[in-house]
Amino acid sequence: ATPLFEVRDLRVEHAAPGGQKLNAVNGVSLRLREGSILGVVGESGCGKSSLARAMLGLLPVAAGSLFYRGQELTTLASRRRRGTQRGIQHVFQDPANSLSPRRTIRQTLEEPLALYRMAGRDEWPGRIARVLEAVGLGSELLDRYPNELSGGQKQRIALARALLPDPDLIIADEPVSSLDVSAQARVIERIRHARKTFGTAFLLISHDLAVIRQLADDVSVMYLGRLVESGPADRVFAEPAHPYTQALLAAARGNGAPGSGLKGEPPSPLTPPPGCVFHTRCPRAMDRCSRLNPGFTVAAQDDCGAQTHLVRCHLWN
Ligand code: SF4
Ligand code: MG
Repeated sequence: ATPLFEVRDLRVEHAAPGGQKLNAVNGVSLRLREGSILGVVGESGCGKSSLARAMLGLLPVAAGSLFYRGQELTTLASRRRRGTQRGIQHVFQDPANSLSPRRTIRQTLEEPLALYRMAGRDEWPGRIARVLEAVGLGSELLDRYPNELSGGQKQRIALARALLPDPDLIIADEPVSSLDVSAQARVIERIRHARKTFGTAFLLISHDLAVIRQLADDVSVMYLGRLVESGPADRVFAEPAHPYTQALLAAARGNGAPGSGLKGEPPSPLTPPPGCVFHTRCPRAMDRCSRLNPGFTVAAQDDCGAQTHLVRCHLWN
């Protein structure tokens, strides 16, 4: 079947001081199935947000391709892009920045309905009531302003706004990392509920493995702009194949923040190490790791053949 969204060999560049170019995303490929949740995990600065922004058309694609329902986005005429934009919505990290302080919640929720010319105006209240219920909020919030809402309520409004145009896919970049633990749990529950109710697929970006673990069907692990492991979430969490994923999981099981079990900081993406990008921090690095960049190897084939567990590490060759 054609994936809902496919990223093929994507490269995203940022301009760096001194006219240098930084490869924020370097040869990343992903496939997102209809109605599924794909988690992308990695430490901050690994290129997760750049990946999300390129998929949304907010950052230029330096190389590679993006396909939405089999159509290459970079070649779509601007007219068709409008349909794409309706179909792919987003929720970003900080709801305080994404909701206009001068608009009531009702005005905020009417925006996408007007923008995408969804139904007649008389149908708007019904549509708004339906998504508000889906995110677990009542209509008494409609005449309030964002500053009268808690962080968790604001993020659920952002989720409601993303759901209103009936998207196929919501790209959620660190959707709960600005929230306290109980608000996090409620937003996570609402993402799960929205997927079930509306069949919406999610690309869920987080540095927090616990968040990914609660929601994702499939997971991709990024390090320094590259994918190092991907596969069904059950499999990757039960039998992580890449030393980096193993370190992240070990850190998450302890009390430290994800990544804290790793020695030192990730190298600068401006000067990525030669060979395996992880070799400067890898507890299992071998001679060849600093010279040869490993390709992807199959770590395990899923029984139903839906998703393959892939790892990029010389230990598997
Ligand atoms: Fe570690 Fe070498 Fe595997 Fe890279 S290729 S993760 S350095 S063992
Ligand atoms: Mg980020």
